[in-house]
Amino acid sequence: MTALKDILIRRIAQTGPISLADYMGECLLHPEHGYYTTRDPLGAAGDFTTAPEISQMVGELLGLCLAQSWLNQGAPAHFALAEIGPGRGTLMTDILRATKSVPGMHDAMRVHLIEASPTLRAAQKDRLTGYDVTWCDHVTELPEAPLWVIANEFFDALPIRQFTRKGEGWAETQVGLKGGALTLGLSAPTPLAELAPRLDDTTDGDVVETCPSVAPVVTEIAQRIADHGGAAVFVDYGDWRSLGDTFQALEAHEMVDPLARPGQADLTAHVDFEALAQAAQRSGIVPSQMIPQGMLLARLGISERAEALAAKLSGEALESHARAFDRLTSPAEMGTLFKALALAPSADKMPPGFNAG
Ligand code: SAH
Repeated sequence: MTALKDILIRRIAQTGPISLADYMGECLLHPEHGYYTTRDPLGAAGDFTTAPEISQMVGELLGLCLAQSWLNQGAPAHFALAEIGPGRGTLMTDILRATKSVPGMHDAMRVHLIEASPTLRAAQKDRLTGYDVTWCDHVTELPEAPLWVIANEFFDALPIRQFTRKGEGWAETQVGLKGGALTLGLSAPTPLAELAPRLDDTTDGDVVETCPSVAPVVTEIAQRIADHGGAAVFVDYGDWRSLGDTFQALEAHEMVDPLARPGQADLTAHVDFEALAQAAQRSGIVPSQMIPQGMLLARLGISERAEALAAKLSGEALESHARAFDRLTSPAEMGTLFKALALAPSADKMPPGFNAG
């Protein structure tokens, strides 16, 4: 039994079932035994691989997208370039390399990385030597300044609550105990003001997920973009408006039982892009239309960039480059499962590749 499993079983035995959000939070970020706290989960030898780890093209194209957005807003002389949940620092490394020759940009920026995991902070420090980087735990610590911020596969790691519709009420998924082992169950149904609008488009038995930390994170970012200018680009696994059970666990690139080894498997849920967009709108900034990753990369010029890189490659390296292109863009792989959303101060200030909603 893992140490964390033991801790959770004792806690539930003493104080009763916990929400899925509580369970996810403990499993991912428990200070001693949390999944992200204790390891680097990325890459072929880890549990999952992300788009920036598949090819340098992702960071290069998204970096130029942010740079063009900065230029379009008059190239403010001081701004924050931030990433939330930067993993190994690969995306930021590629962004910085690709934007080095944008006149004035690097002199004007300070790089801010928001990262909860000490292990991954150390990896980021290694990758970004030579750059002046500030780390912080939370978006609340970002400076009051123009802000260009990016996040890839960050929101899918935030704890979710999950509800099953029962008549006009909602029963919450909880982690409890059965015969001394962790088990999933449902609370007694109650009406929920937050889910009242979903009574219109769901029926009995439908599952809806909410992510309580989305609004606070988006609101902090949106307030800075509204007050000082800037833009946000979010890429993640998910869709528009949550429907269905998307809670899952991955270990060594395989789906596993999310209750089997707390703290040892990556736990995620699909991102509800409508919730991101609504939180931005409530803070007075404009969300883009949600766009599939493959389409965004195509609009940003991935075919041209892939050809330019291919010209210098041969044999094994060329094959792996072509395979990476496919993985990122093909509808059968990440091309349509992953989506992107941008936030801007106004509709005419959408970053390249995005349409105003
Ligand atoms: N963006 C990277 C890594 C994605 S994994 C990539 O695409 O490769 C998720 C990242 O979010 C990790 O760096 C993890 O440590 C971080 N993270 C998860 N929850 C967090 C939280 N609540 N606050 C800050 N960082 C968090």
